Amino acid sequence: MASKAIQESQGAGLSARSYLLQSKSAISRGIIVLNNFGKNRFRPGWVEVIVGCMFSGKTEELIKQMHRAEYAKQSCQVFKPQIDARYSVDHVASHSQKQLKATPVESAHELLALVERHTQVVGIDEGQFLGPELVDVVSTLADAGKRVVIAGLDTDWRGRPFGPMPNLLAIAEVVNKQYAICMVCGEPATRTQRLVAATEDILVGSNDAYEARCRLHFDPELSVRIGSHQEHHAQA
Ligand SMILES: [Zn+2]
Repeated sequence: MASKAIQESQGAGLSARSYLLQSKSAISRGIIVLNNFGKNRFRPGWVEVIVGCMFSGKTEELIKQMHRAEYAKQSCQVFKPQIDARYSVDHVASHSQKQLKATPVESAHELLALVERHTQVVGIDEGQFLGPELVDVVSTLADAGKRVVIAGLDTDWRGRPFGPMPNLLAIAEVVNKQYAICMVCGEPATRTQRLVAATEDILVGSNDAYEARCRLHFDPELSVRIGSHQEHHAQA
C-alpha cells in the first residue's frame, strides 16, 4: 500500500503535462457533479486562479471561461470590486474591449452574500482588490460545490505579492499564469511597470500609466524617482 502511494506521488511529480491532464479530468468530473448540485451530498467545488501582470490577458481568459460555462447552460455569476471603474461600472472589461456583465461589490463578504444557491460557477475579476477575507470566501464557495474562477494581478507595481492573490494561489486546485510581452525586449513579461509618480497603491485603469516588463527590465524604483523629480520641480 505504502509503495503504491509513493509511486503515485512520484508519478504526480514526474511531468507537468500529466498533472495538467489529471487536473483537466478532475475538472470534467467536477462539472458533471456540479450539474447535480443540490441533489448530491458529495459536492466537490474547486478554485481556479488566473494570474499575471497587466496586459497578460487575465480578464480575457476569465471572460472566455465564463462564456464557455454559459454555453454549457451552467448558472454563472460574475463579480468585480467596486473600485475598478476602468471601463464600466457593471461589466467586466478586458483591455481589448471584450465585456461580460458583472456585479460590483465593495467587499468579499458582500460577494458571498450575493451568490445564489443555484449558481454553479462564480467568476471574480481584479481579485487583488478584495482583501484578505477573499481567501475564506472563495473556500466557502468551493466547499459548497461551486467552481470559483478568480482573475487578478499576482504582483503590485513594486513587484510584491498583491493582496489575497498569493494565498489564493496556495489554495487553488488550478493555477493559470498568463504572460504579457516586455515592452523593452519582447520577452515574456511577468511584472507591471508603473510609469507615473508613486503617490498611492491603487491606480486603476489607465493604460499609459503602466506597461508590461520582464524581470530584467522591471524597475520598481522608477515611479519613486519620477515622484521625487516632480516634487523637486514643484518646490523650485
Ligand atoms: Zn525585458
